Amino acid sequence: MQTQLIESGKKSKAERLFEIANSTGLVRSGRFLWAKSLTVLNYHRVNQRPDQPDSDTFKPNISATPEEFARQMEYVSRWFNVISLRDLVDWLENQRSLPPHAALITFDDGYLDNYTVAFPILQKFHFPAVIFLTTGHIAKDTPFYWDLTAYCFYHTTRDEVDSPDGKKRHWENQRQLDDTVREWTESLKVLPNEEKQKWLTRLPDLLDVSVPEGFFRSLMMNWDQVRELNQKGIEFGGHTVTHPILTRVSLDQARNEIEGSRAEIEQQLGHPIFSFAYPNGMSADFNPGIENLVKSAGYKAAFTLLNGPTSLREAKAHPLTIRRIFISHKHTLPRFAALVSWVNRYRPG
Ligand SMILES: [Zn+2]
Repeated sequence: MQTQLIESGKKSKAERLFEIANSTGLVRSGRFLWAKSLTVLNYHRVNQRPDQPDSDTFKPNISATPEEFARQMEYVSRWFNVISLRDLVDWLENQRSLPPHAALITFDDGYLDNYTVAFPILQKFHFPAVIFLTTGHIAKDTPFYWDLTAYCFYHTTRDEVDSPDGKKRHWENQRQLDDTVREWTESLKVLPNEEKQKWLTRLPDLLDVSVPEGFFRSLMMNWDQVRELNQKGIEFGGHTVTHPILTRVSLDQARNEIEGSRAEIEQQLGHPIFSFAYPNGMSADFNPGIENLVKSAGYKAAFTLLNGPTSLREAKAHPLTIRRIFISHKHTLPRFAALVSWVNRYRPG
């Protein structure tokens, strides 16, 4: 889950510049200068636009509609060479080289629409991908806090609520409601786990909402679906058990989260896994102590949400903090084209 980089949907001056940069090819100029690069895309959910009135989805988690995702994959097929995680790990271990303009496609959390919507599109392009699973939410009716928050707010008839940050929040229209969901989630995110749980337990009552049994389980893939995708070329990585921000829990808890997700996935798949993605993934969400835990759990590559394509040199020097590009449903194709280009902070390293 990530809420950064969400910008206003209005067509801005910047958006028009992105359109020109894409249509004239400016955004791809001098490609040979950044051929030795790794572009890791990060998706969460691929689903219908969340701005319909009956949507009860946590909006920032919708990375693209199926149509947008297909367009983005078409763009990737034209300008990049998609690699698998296995390719990346083999390269990190000096077992192979990578093609120019290497790209890796990743998904976080393990939502069902990765299986039902994204996978058939990936198949059309013969693209591999990696899905990072939060194992405590797979095949269980345990909601992610942002999904529970969104469900309760989008089903309530109330129009105000107490917030974890101590403020009372009130909304009068859809936009204010969306803002409240985002603010409520953000203020929850920074709380110690116990306090977070307390607020989550109270929330349905605060908003006078009851959640149907099985609702949250049905948002996520189950283990049969995970195994089926794995047989069809999708790789899996760890994303903790309960999705805490690892720098906000004790090192012992962090170790359990990091090792626990790995052990469960390996047991379910029957083979080792090699990669990990930090929950939230920003610079405050991991540190050298956490990286050490990731390394000693046996992971060979780990991914952040620090933005931008990376040089191969940087990726090889820091395989446990590889950058990714967070994709939002608010990104038009021209903006996507800019995000995956040198414009987006590429440094030769
Ligand atoms: Zn996540």
